[in-house]
Amino acid sequence: MEERDRMKEYYAALRAEAEMKAAENTARARENQTFRKNDNRLSDIERELAFAEIAGEKGKLRALAREKETLRAENEKILASMGLTIDQLSPVYRCPKCKDTGFIGTAPCACYLEAAEKAGGSIGIPPETLPAFGEEFAKEKGIAAAYRKTLSFAEKFPDVKIRNINFLGRTGTGKTLLAGNVAARVAKRGFKVIFLSSFEMNNVFLEYHSFFEEGRTLPMNALIAADLLVIDDLGAEQNIRNVTVPYLCNLLSERGMRGRSTLITSNLSQEELLSRYAERVFSRIFDKRLSTTLSLGGGDGRLKR
Ligand SMILES: [Zn+2]
Repeated sequence: MEERDRMKEYYAALRAEAEMKAAENTARARENQTFRKNDNRLSDIERELAFAEIAGEKGKLRALAREKETLRAENEKILASMGLTIDQLSPVYRCPKCKDTGFIGTAPCACYLEAAEKAGGSIGIPPETLPAFGEEFAKEKGIAAAYRKTLSFAEKFPDVKIRNINFLGRTGTGKTLLAGNVAARVAKRGFKVIFLSSFEMNNVFLEYHSFFEEGRTLPMNALIAADLLVIDDLGAEQNIRNVTVPYLCNLLSERGMRGRSTLITSNLSQEELLSRYAERVFSRIFDKRLSTTLSLGGGDGRLKR
């Protein structure tokens, strides 16, 4: 989805939220018989006031104004007993300046620029700060073979048949270095790259899951839309019930449908990943038609089990 469309969707959701809350509050208030009666009478008074104004009936105008004030005060009391205010019966927009449209006239509102920045830039580690390195360094680290494979991926991207790479191996085997190297090189070529820890990914899921959290759809959409997504240290995050596994599954399928590339690093073995995330996530990560798995630090017992 285009950035502009995502922003449109975001603001439409904000407005819908404000309007729905106002409608809910109004319906709740109108369950009170006295409030409803007063509210109906207040509508009539508005009309009568307009007529009296036209007819120039000063006495009637004063009487209506007094009645209006009494009824409004009574309704405010009823609302207060429900924990509501009159303002909450109309949509309360997060941004009163643009009424959650994102624009003032044709110019973007300050809140728009803020939200756009939040959506794009601030998730994970900025890929331009990740170190790209050469083959000499890879040799020193003992990861030259994996380096050459991933370098060719980074250079051909996005024109790659195998579009996902999994880096498995224990800490210190160079998997994050390799994934970071690919991310840095792909980002340098102008593609949108997001590199984040599984912990941060989990936070995006949680935010998205907590309905009506401000701007909640933006980071999730950014994860779905990035040309290249690197999830670092999958399995280190807390497995939150009804959040981590289902949203990871959604994220991977949404990216799969869009033909986007995902790199995953993990300390866990395939068996451990299968038991932690179950079949639906596992089959998306290890789909042989689309993914390759590099096992690093061959001496690691966990991978041979
Ligand atoms: Zn605004």
